[in-house]
Amino acid sequence: MANKTLNTNHALYQYILSISLRDSSVQQNLRNENADTEMGIMQISPDQAQFIALLIKLIQAEKIIEVGTFTGYSTLVMANALPDHGKIIACDINKAWTDIALHHWQQANVDHKIDLYLAPAADTLDKLINDGNANQFDVIFIDADKINYLNYYERGLTLVKPGGLICVDNVLWGGNVIDNADQSDDTVAIRDFNAFLHTDDRVDISLVPIGDGLSLARKK
Ligand code: CA
Repeated sequence: MANKTLNTNHALYQYILSISLRDSSVQQNLRNENADTEMGIMQISPDQAQFIALLIKLIQAEKIIEVGTFTGYSTLVMANALPDHGKIIACDINKAWTDIALHHWQQANVDHKIDLYLAPAADTLDKLINDGNANQFDVIFIDADKINYLNYYERGLTLVKPGGLICVDNVLWGGNVIDNADQSDDTVAIRDFNAFLHTDDRVDISLVPIGDGLSLARKK
């Protein structure tokens, strides 16, 4: 028994997957492809994706922004959780990665729910705000370059509606957030973001130690 978060070893994590994961064949194929690549570690964990999909259904989200698409696994899982008229604005700057994503979105017949913007995400978010889309989105999932987390968060907070959810990935950064010897730009940026979110009273928060750490912020 434990009154703190359980330390999940490999065997226990495999049990969690074996007893709870419901990955579609396209999702599984995409994960297998990612696992064969050097950058595959950028994909979120499947149990984490399933958790976000459940949140999407719980709040009956219809409009989502994803900042950082990579090869589209998280996008695919989120799209599957949306109703047929739902929409994801997917932001990334890498054509090679998102070409892989597009292929799998088509295979899963969810490509009509996803609009891909190949541009710096801050520019895409600014354009959405300037085009009158403030308070229009249900969920924003932030999982891109860490030094811009605060920039994405502020824009995301403008774009989600009251009651909307901001999900931020990698907030534990492999545990490096507590290694004071690590003063790299990414680690410092994540520490700064975490400290900022802790005292931001515009949102209700929870840091969920799933995957590499997922912070949830609900706009008041
Ligand atoms: Ca990530």
